[in-house]
Amino acid sequence: MEITIHEVAAAERKPRPDGTALGFGQLFTDHMFVMPYDAVKGGWHDPEVRPYTNFSLDPAAMVFHYGQAIFEGLKAYRGGNGAVHLFRPTANLARMNISASRLCMPALPLETALAGLKALVRSDADWVPSAPGATLYIRPTMVATEAALGVRPAKQYLFFIIMSPVGAYYPEGFNPVKIYVTDQYVRAVPGGVGAAKAAGNYAASIRAAEEAKKQGFTQVLWLDACERRYVEEVGTMNIFFVIGDEVITPPLSGSILPGITRDSALRLIRDWGYPVVERPISIDEVLEAGGRDTLKEAFGTGTAAVISPVGALHYQGRDCVINGGKTGALSQRLFDELQAIQYGRARDPYGWVETL
Ligand SMILES: *Cc1c(COP(=O)(O)O)cnc(C)c1O
Repeated sequence: MEITIHEVAAAERKPRPDGTALGFGQLFTDHMFVMPYDAVKGGWHDPEVRPYTNFSLDPAAMVFHYGQAIFEGLKAYRGGNGAVHLFRPTANLARMNISASRLCMPALPLETALAGLKALVRSDADWVPSAPGATLYIRPTMVATEAALGVRPAKQYLFFIIMSPVGAYYPEGFNPVKIYVTDQYVRAVPGGVGAAKAAGNYAASIRAAEEAKKQGFTQVLWLDACERRYVEEVGTMNIFFVIGDEVITPPLSGSILPGITRDSALRLIRDWGYPVVERPISIDEVLEAGGRDTLKEAFGTGTAAVISPVGALHYQGRDCVINGGKTGALSQRLFDELQAIQYGRARDPYGWVETL
């Protein structure tokens, strides 16, 4: 499909923000990518990069009522030589199609979606910050737009991509987080939509996160919904533990999100020769290892933070401090190596980076 490009006139572009004071997801670039879908009129059509503007949707649009909404998150990085790099964009779009399939939404034409994403980043290339650690966050989204109130898959959808310049996640260096382990709320159930990046999963998680924040914790660690025993993930990140010499992460059981950072971290850890295993791990095992001092590190993986060291876990009224509350060696090494690849400073033997 041919992508139409309608750029904003130079004089009408928004002022560029200061790259050192960006925050997260508050400002949006000059353009967006939009591609509608109509099951009756032949599927995806009229892909377009155009000025960032409001949508007009019918109040009966099915996304408002039954929540057919999925999204992705990835970043563009400004390399030292000025080039713009994308990290594994094809993996994000492929995952979006898995999410789409679970919610009975139409599969994206991957070639057009990737070409649209790249065209959008090119149109807004000067929005990719060059401040250290700052990036351009990219948010592909798909929603049901058909106006109808029956519960069934919609016949019309909108796929769009918006972008937001974001500041360094760690402006003052790593800051290990304190995590609240909830046995009251669950994120996803077996057979549910936990493996999809479906908007409803996040609506369902907010209450637990708010309660944890009120008690001084940064994030929630989710346990499995059936036994409330096995570790699933932390906030919107996958979780890893280093116990003894072994690196352990929960398997892709169907109720956790298959993170691209998780996959990349696993690849690096394996290539560095650490023993690593994907297996169910109970919260009791983690806390026991903490008590015996064999729990050396815990860290989350996700696009926003890349690596987020966990300094302490709080479970059923007790605290478990990990590595003295400091960043562990593997967390640091993974963060440094992934960032170096993402910014184009390190060799990329995996073909993860696409340079525009
Ligand atoms: C997006 C997300 C992750 C991390 O995925 P990445 O591809 O590494 O960014 C992990 N868990 C949840 C629930 C998520 O939404």
